[in-house]
Amino acid sequence: MTTNRVPMSSPDITEAERQAVMEVLVTTVLSMGEKTQAFEEAVCKFSGSAHAIAVSSGTSGLHLCVRAAGIGAGDLVLTTPFSFIASSNVLLYENAVPVFVDVDMDTGNIDPTRLAQVAEQLAKGGKVAETWLPRKGASAKKPKAILAVDVFGQPADYDAVTAIAKEHDLVLIEDSCEALGAEFKGKLAGRFGQMGVYAFYPNKQITTGEGGVVVTDDSVAADFMRALRNQGRAPGDSWLRHTHLGYNYRLTELSAALGRVQMERLGELLTKREQVAAWYKQRLQDVNLVELQPLAANTTRMSWFVYVIRLAPQVSRDRLAQLLAEAGIPTRPYFAPIHLQPFMIERFGYRTGDFPIAEDLGRRGLALPFSSVMIEDQVDLVCRQLQSAIPKALDK
Ligand SMILES: *Cc1c(COP(=O)(O)O)cnc(C)c1O
Repeated sequence: MTTNRVPMSSPDITEAERQAVMEVLVTTVLSMGEKTQAFEEAVCKFSGSAHAIAVSSGTSGLHLCVRAAGIGAGDLVLTTPFSFIASSNVLLYENAVPVFVDVDMDTGNIDPTRLAQVAEQLAKGGKVAETWLPRKGASAKKPKAILAVDVFGQPADYDAVTAIAKEHDLVLIEDSCEALGAEFKGKLAGRFGQMGVYAFYPNKQITTGEGGVVVTDDSVAADFMRALRNQGRAPGDSWLRHTHLGYNYRLTELSAALGRVQMERLGELLTKREQVAAWYKQRLQDVNLVELQPLAANTTRMSWFVYVIRLAPQVSRDRLAQLLAEAGIPTRPYFAPIHLQPFMIERFGYRTGDFPIAEDLGRRGLALPFSSVMIEDQVDLVCRQLQSAIPKALDK
């Protein structure tokens, strides 16, 4: 085992965060107290949303959105196969059906042209091109919602996505778990749908250890989600009265206190990530067989979550990853498309070739070490190792 010379990712924690967590530890309130409220207020202030509901993870936040949207058994939800597994899992939790739409080759986000076609076909209720529905476990009908993902910190095409949602009367849920602070035409990611979610796992732009937050302007949905995160206790319910089937999706006060300080530092953290991305770009933009993540013209701010390069087809991505690992440079293939995960194949009958663009990006994408605490020398080291490993990873 070679020890890593650079970490794959890293939280960015200062004395202020440590202090804030210590302050909670000397109180008696470790859950659902004023720290959670203050954290939610900070998120509202930043995002401009009327409500913020802090939860135990991005996944639990997305699940609450699915419940609040009334998505249930057999309902169809248009979404992307090129994402982290959680964005589809939350649909399966309710026995709903993800209807995958292939992605745009440049951004890796849901392709609006295909999305419009699929929505149109399904809305007509007529015969649907077979490949647009899973081979099993689904029947054609009008979809209920769109679940869009802002992949790698780049917003989806919300001019198109919001227009399609409106035309077909679909709820739009925005998975911005990778995109806190990103902007589409100057407007914040997470704010295009009826509900949006940010996540705070340690590799995200800010962290609470584990955690997430739902943002929405819909007061009814917000009350419902607050109830569900807290074992289904509706406003006015006593501790042992549960109006709804709920969950324990609460965030701890320790996490909220940490998140509050991280939110205050968000501007600094995003700027540092931009700097690291710029160092990578400088060194890699002219490297043969390496393609950098394209940014759409409407991405007025990229919120760098990971730094993913795309390798030319003649480079063996996995061989390259192996060589880099031996040199102490960790990397990750990003993403393995959701429709080809074992349980998805089993349940819905997907096959290789169903979503060729997502699969192609999935085969060629490699995430390099990335975080706001990375220094230029580390970027330098990664890039030098990468350049010397590429010729050794060519398919013969
Ligand atoms: C990180 C992430 C989530 C949520 O992850 P948690 O680990 O549950 O906080 C959801 N969707 C996407 C696309 C993500 O990257």
